[in-house]
Amino acid sequence: MPLSANDPSHKSWLDVPANSDFPIQNIPFGVFLTRDDVITIGTRIGDTAIDLGALHQLGYFKGIDLTDDIFLQDSLNDFIADGRKTWRLVRNRVSKIFREGSDTELRNNDDHRDKVLFSLDEIEMQMPVDVGDYTDFYASKEHATNVGSLFRDPENALMPNWLHIPIGYHGRSSSIIPSGTPIHRPIGQSKPGDDGKPGFGPSKLLDFELEMAFITTAANDLGKRVSIDEAEDHIFGLVLFNDWSARDIQAWEYQPLGPFLGKSFASTISPWIVTLDALEPFRAKGPEQEPKPLPYLQQQGKKNFDIHLQAIIQPENGEENIVANSNFKYMYWSMAQQLAHHTINGCNVRSGDMMGSGTISGPTKDSYGSMLELTWRGQNPLKLSDGSERKFIEDGDTVILRGHAEKDGVRIGFGDCSGKILPAH
Ligand code: MN
Repeated sequence: MPLSANDPSHKSWLDVPANSDFPIQNIPFGVFLTRDDVITIGTRIGDTAIDLGALHQLGYFKGIDLTDDIFLQDSLNDFIADGRKTWRLVRNRVSKIFREGSDTELRNNDDHRDKVLFSLDEIEMQMPVDVGDYTDFYASKEHATNVGSLFRDPENALMPNWLHIPIGYHGRSSSIIPSGTPIHRPIGQSKPGDDGKPGFGPSKLLDFELEMAFITTAANDLGKRVSIDEAEDHIFGLVLFNDWSARDIQAWEYQPLGPFLGKSFASTISPWIVTLDALEPFRAKGPEQEPKPLPYLQQQGKKNFDIHLQAIIQPENGEENIVANSNFKYMYWSMAQQLAHHTINGCNVRSGDMMGSGTISGPTKDSYGSMLELTWRGQNPLKLSDGSERKFIEDGDTVILRGHAEKDGVRIGFGDCSGKILPAH
């Protein structure tokens, strides 16, 4: 099926501000509460939120095989489970309804427009999916090398398995929250000092991790595998993902079983899921893989995506400071490789599952995706525009992740992935 919704020549009859992340070529999916306290599945063009539940009730999706209540739900899980053919039909139809010169039915119907369109201040974004399982990978070679150098041996920074396996661990889905939700600084244990007793209290080394996460459809039954060639068919879309990390809690607890409470207090996502289809024009070649991975991880063609990423720190009542510029194309292990690896043992992946990329660091010091790397474990504090310094994240700071891809005059972005740190309580 052609991805007609991606045509760069399309313009919407809805207003789209210059440099908007949400032109008519994007058409992301999300869940929001309306002014009438109704929860619905929707999309967004420019700064207008579109109620897909209302559009469906008014008959605008005629001819597409959808259940009556598919958009009148508090998560996208069922819609995602309908599969890629359905996602494409809906995205193409939305594109047609809102395209300049293509369809005037909704544009000319005041009553319908009133039921379907909302300004952003009339809605409240919710979690787009009910995340059953969340896995976090560790797929950036630069990040793994930096962390290995900091905590182990700069000469042997990568563990012997790293170039053979997309390393990952099972995270906690209950504490994944949408952008804008504040977070209290976590409390926990830290490494013993000279007295031999573990420390306890608010984390002193609170960090962000600049990541992206992909959301899957039901990919395989228990005991079955997803091959690398079909892996992308099961990826619905992506969000920005801040995998908040308390480095002092993490450093004390992580051996021998891996990350636990230093990670599970919160992870923040951008609330609009940008489909893999919308990102199709931005494919890029990933890094050369040497040694060659095992056959089940060998891929053809461009499996990475050129998405510019930023991390920003905004102190309380202060201005935004860009602290990192990275790119999703730096990933060593692609999403397809991650999904093929995840299922090689027969583990079943379900609709609404979320897979974090791991911190995305680039080759230069200003492209590192965490404070741990940017300040080299606090040795080189960052200077902010108000004159203050940061080794890690302080109370009152808001961390914002942003990301967009751009080509042929079309900019596809994700909106803000933002979270403010409140004092421990
Ligand atoms: Mn992470």
